[in-house]
Amino acid sequence: MVDKVKLLIDGAFVDAKGSQWRDVVNPATQDVLASVPMCGSDEVAQAVAAAKAAFPAWRATAIAERARVFLRLQALIREHMDELAATLTREQGKTLADAKGDVFRGLEVVEHACSIGTLQMGEFAENVAGGVDTYAIRQPLGVCAGITPFNFPAMIPLWMFPMACVAGNTFVLKPSEQDPLTPMKLAELAQQAGLPRGVLNVVHGGVEAVNAICDHPDIKAISFVGSVNVGRHVYERGTSNGKRVQAMLGAKNHAVVLPDANKEQTLNALVGAAFGAAGQRCMATSVVVLVGKAKEWIPDIVAKAKTLKVSAGCEPGADLGPVINRQALARIEKLIGQGIEQGATLELDGRKPVIAGYESGNFVAPTIFSAVKPGMAIYDEEIFGPVLCICEADSLDAAIALVNANPYGNGTALFTQSGAAARKFQHDIDVGQVGINVPIPVPVPIFSFTGSRGSKLGDLGPYGKEVIRFYTQTKTVTARWFDDDATAGPVNTTIALR
Ligand code: NAD
Repeated sequence: MVDKVKLLIDGAFVDAKGSQWRDVVNPATQDVLASVPMCGSDEVAQAVAAAKAAFPAWRATAIAERARVFLRLQALIREHMDELAATLTREQGKTLADAKGDVFRGLEVVEHACSIGTLQMGEFAENVAGGVDTYAIRQPLGVCAGITPFNFPAMIPLWMFPMACVAGNTFVLKPSEQDPLTPMKLAELAQQAGLPRGVLNVVHGGVEAVNAICDHPDIKAISFVGSVNVGRHVYERGTSNGKRVQAMLGAKNHAVVLPDANKEQTLNALVGAAFGAAGQRCMATSVVVLVGKAKEWIPDIVAKAKTLKVSAGCEPGADLGPVINRQALARIEKLIGQGIEQGATLELDGRKPVIAGYESGNFVAPTIFSAVKPGMAIYDEEIFGPVLCICEADSLDAAIALVNANPYGNGTALFTQSGAAARKFQHDIDVGQVGINVPIPVPVPIFSFTGSRGSKLGDLGPYGKEVIRFYTQTKTVTARWFDDDATAGPVNTTIALR
């Protein structure tokens, strides 16, 4: 009998009542790790009711007291780092080192949440009219919800509930049904850290639970991270129900390489960013644009990719693990086939590698295409696997035009030793997150995550300062105080303050 994943409702870890369950599967072995409930609207309603009941007291809790809960949570996450990473590797497949990175990037957000005192500060202007002051305060919204993808089961839940809750909101988290064990461990640690009951609640499931979140009248804001189609649905359904929604979506990230780039550094960066986490990162480098003579580097990229070890994430020395499930594997293999049919040159074929001891795992080894062009499925679609497309451009201008013509705008990078080229790229490129000799430019949490165009819906991003605006309502107060002996002038029938 495998363990049943519990729900967290009103501070208690409880069994789901519904009859629909699905297996949580180790993608390297197909072992069933647990069974996760596919919740419906009743369970979502229970979680929302608990969050709504907890809101008045939590909203009234002193800022420092809220921050202290997250100080304790960051210490607990550090203490449980190995256990969290091992769970994450088992259910998601990424290597242990990368799983620690996943937890660590989330931990940084928890640390950032501890600065809520300054982050949530308002503004004050004295004497905006005679004896009148105006100030703006940021108040929590109420019940907020988060819907997360499979690829970062620690980092992305930690983008959401710490920032929402530390700002005084209460929260309902719906993690990916494919790897719910890591988020549940984080929820346990949050309870241990002293988060009062009902402040964080967790439900599981897919379409039905997500739709119930989009429709529930007591949820004020939804933070979504996942694929374009689902994100668009959540954004449209949530906003049509009057909610704030931020949706971080899919991507096709281009790295542009100029011939003057530091070659060894660049090759390492490209190969790591293309194939790390088996390409299942929204900020993975999935397209390399070689400019001018840099196109001579194709054999070097292939040679470097061949040095990577593909194995189960728990194996020592593994550089990339399996992809998340059999459907994802079949889709990636199909896209590779389409790449060949549509005329791209297959430089390295990673299909069906034999991984000793893990013959039933969902493995694809690094795969590289050159001569890739827009209009080919491998270029137009987000593959979300270890497949790198190489395009060529005659000039930096032509490379920038290619990147800007792509509908996605999550991340990009330029590799060069020229400050002038970097300055031009940073200015002209129409992508939200730009790396200069940095392949995966996910900002640290003192900044916000700033994907743009087709990679995002809503105008404010996760973490950083932007998320405080997302999770709060700004209230402006315009105030005048009278001395007891002040004399009243004439009635003012205009809109002007005097
Ligand atoms: P997904 O869209 O399949 O799932 C995301 C969430 O939506 C999950 O919680 C899932 O249960 C739910 N869901 C799935 N299908 C649904 C449906 N039909 N109706 C309602 N809800 C549904 O995404 P995924 O495969 O888990 O994650 C990979 C995707 O996420 C990639 O496209 C990746 O680029 C994107 N992503 C984006 C960012 C970013 O910051 N831009 C970060 C990580 C991942």
